[in-house]
Amino acid sequence: MSFVRPKKKLGQHFLTDQNIAAKIVDSLGANVPDVLEIGPGMGVLTQFLLQRPELNVHVIEIDTESVEYLKEHFPNLQHIYSEDFLKADITERFAGNFNVIGNFPYNISSQIFFRILKFRNRIPETVGMVQKEVAERIASKHGTKVYGIMSVLLQAFFDIEYLFTVPETVFNPPPKVKSAVIRIRRNQVSELPCNEDLFIKVVKAAFNQRRKMMRNSLREICADLPVEYAEKRPEQLSVNDFVLLTCAIENLKKVQYELRVDQRKH
Ligand code: SAH
Repeated sequence: MSFVRPKKKLGQHFLTDQNIAAKIVDSLGANVPDVLEIGPGMGVLTQFLLQRPELNVHVIEIDTESVEYLKEHFPNLQHIYSEDFLKADITERFAGNFNVIGNFPYNISSQIFFRILKFRNRIPETVGMVQKEVAERIASKHGTKVYGIMSVLLQAFFDIEYLFTVPETVFNPPPKVKSAVIRIRRNQVSELPCNEDLFIKVVKAAFNQRRKMMRNSLREICADLPVEYAEKRPEQLSVNDFVLLTCAIENLKKVQYELRVDQRKH
């Protein structure tokens, strides 16, 4: 097989620029030897990963045609999983921690990040190429227009760096949008001081109506939001503010519950 025919429904845009491929692979640290590449396609990144003797390379690819191509062209590549990254319990394939790399299929990049978030305690570092807008959103700080759900949820557990922009012209076929490479590293926060499900609920509810004051968008979660948050809009709150807000809501609920129990006793 000489090449894989790009399939649109799998988000296949093959990178053709070797220098950019090398630069992406160079951006990945060697803090742990195991690395998982998501969506290797024809192996433009894989070839450079295999050149790093300190790394132990695993790849996961949904497209069986690409898998056949990889087996034929990379006989040294021992760990090829012909699977869907969004469904596989990939942590079972590694004894310890592993890093992640990939030119991600853009149609599912948010889902990939949510899965990385789920496995966060096993994944110290991820280097990924995504649509430029997604990279900007993930890396953005509060006070900006693109700051949103993904920014807050990922930045709660990762330090994020926007590394460089990649033009449409270096792909086959060229995508309609520019791309960018980001690096996300697990931060020092082992657990949030508040309930994590409530944190996710608060962040989603706030940004789902991002133009409204939080008093209104969070009404169903908390009817009497603390004054310091009530008249703010979600993009004004830092990640830390969202954590503190969730703690405050949790405490309020606790106090209200205790009051009710107390009233019943009398
Ligand atoms: N890394 C290659 C290909 C990038 S295109 C390059 O840079 O040229 C994205 C790749 O992800 C494709 O090979 C596609 O088949 C694969 N892919 C798409 N959805 C996937 C999924 N759910 N799990 C694993 N791989 C997937």
